[in-house]
Amino acid sequence: MTKKLFDDGMLFSFSAVVTDCKETKNGFEVTLDRSAFFPEGGGQAGDVGTLGGVKVIDTYEKNGEVIHLCKSALEVGTEVRGEINENIRIRRMQNHSGEHLLMGFIHQKLGYENVGFHMGSDEVLLDLNGVISPEDIRECEQKANEAIARNVSINISYPASEELASLSYRSKLEMTENVRIVTIEGIDNCACCAPHMPSTGGIGIVKVISSESNRGGTRLHILCGLDALDLIRQRMESNAAISHLLSAKPEKTADAVEKLLNENISLKRQITENERRAAEEIISGLKNDSRKSFCIFTKGLGRNTMREIANRAVKLTDGAAAVFSEEQDGFGYIIASEKLPLRTIAKDINSVLHGKGGGSDLMIQGSLTAERGAIEKYFSELDL
Ligand SMILES: [Zn+2]
Repeated sequence: MTKKLFDDGMLFSFSAVVTDCKETKNGFEVTLDRSAFFPEGGGQAGDVGTLGGVKVIDTYEKNGEVIHLCKSALEVGTEVRGEINENIRIRRMQNHSGEHLLMGFIHQKLGYENVGFHMGSDEVLLDLNGVISPEDIRECEQKANEAIARNVSINISYPASEELASLSYRSKLEMTENVRIVTIEGIDNCACCAPHMPSTGGIGIVKVISSESNRGGTRLHILCGLDALDLIRQRMESNAAISHLLSAKPEKTADAVEKLLNENISLKRQITENERRAAEEIISGLKNDSRKSFCIFTKGLGRNTMREIANRAVKLTDGAAAVFSEEQDGFGYIIASEKLPLRTIAKDINSVLHGKGGGSDLMIQGSLTAERGAIEKYFSELDL
């Protein structure tokens, strides 16, 4: 059985003897007489690093043995140097230890348990079996960070069963033997198999990013230490970009965005009102001549306004009420008629006036690239 050295979370380099090496389809499964590599567990992924210079891409446990999944074979009996990827391991320990610390205060205050824990590369999810208010989240987060400032010890112990029976600790499983207790002095006791920071100072910061309701409880998204720093940097850069774009102080960006949105709403209202007036003006200028089709040319009007003009103009003619809006390379059109077979006419328009579009016999819409003169000529020759 591998002697496990990861009770000391800060042991990143060690020497050991290779006891076995088996080739599998994923790589070489190497075992050692002793190892500081952590096999996945307690929500924390298996360590990566090198053994004798050979890459270790994952670590897991099989029948009590720590398996180091290596890129190449290692000779049984040789002594190798194990080097754990320190940056990855520290980030994981910060998130994991930070979760214990925050959970300790939540448990103290509300009695909730951690009923789900997921630690990914860019987010840590913590599921509580109860509803927690934003005020309580803030209070527990604050206490966790104050405990970081006090640099409280985090200890690993394996209490004897009598001692364990009298100990109050958080645990996901009912265990009675060889239980590994992670203690944050005076704050939390929790049964857990993973490596942790030796004291709370190493966690750096605990930040709750967001919370959402989850199966009658609450899911917290948290990040700690270096991962939290990365996120804070990313969010500050994004805020700095908004601040620059809106010429607003970084702490006033929300106000500036709100102002911009309000301006946008009032501009949209103004555009609608301007279009409505333009449409009224066009409609009041139309002469009631039931034998002629209307050809109405506009610019800068939205489709809704064009449709409104076509719907009103069609009441004045048995022909077509055709509304065109000048676009970059031609015209957009909406054509209404109560008598003409517009679906057939659409095909004709598409071929004669170089357009594309269609619709029903009552209304067609699309765009075309013909000149204004050709369009007017076409509609003046439409048979009624
Ligand atoms: Zn833990």
